Amino acid sequence: MSAEKATLDSSKEVVDCRNKNKVRCQFCNSLMLKPKAAMFIEKQVSEQKYLNFQLTFIAFQFKLPLIHQKNSVDIKDVETEEISEYWVVNDMLTFENIGFSNQVENTKFLTCADCEKGPVGFNIASEKNCYIALSRVKHVE
Ligand SMILES: [Zn+2]
Repeated sequence: MSAEKATLDSSKEVVDCRNKNKVRCQFCNSLMLKPKAAMFIEKQVSEQKYLNFQLTFIAFQFKLPLIHQKNSVDIKDVETEEISEYWVVNDMLTFENIGFSNQVENTKFLTCADCEKGPVGFNIASEKNCYIALSRVKHVE
């Protein structure tokens, strides 16, 4: 039993720079990504922890709005938290299920396609990549 239940140990979820387990909605269990469908990135490029994965990590930090119900609130008014660990998907067809919110400025937020809760991640309109926050989803074998 782990005493640090609240802290996600992402190193256990990453194998060969990819997601070891299925990525599911933490609310309704909808399958978002199959194992190994996404790449892992972490913002702290210079930190030793992930260097042995031999991947060029992208310097990254993004303020993701806190989870909220559907699109009933204006996403710009929602509180945000800084999240640094993401699964990256280059092609949205890689997803088993994913929903997109309306575009806000340059960003589309990703939500669960089934229960519409989110955001679980985001997509920048000018690039193809979709980013799913590890802390916003469930990892299931
Ligand atoms: Zn869901």
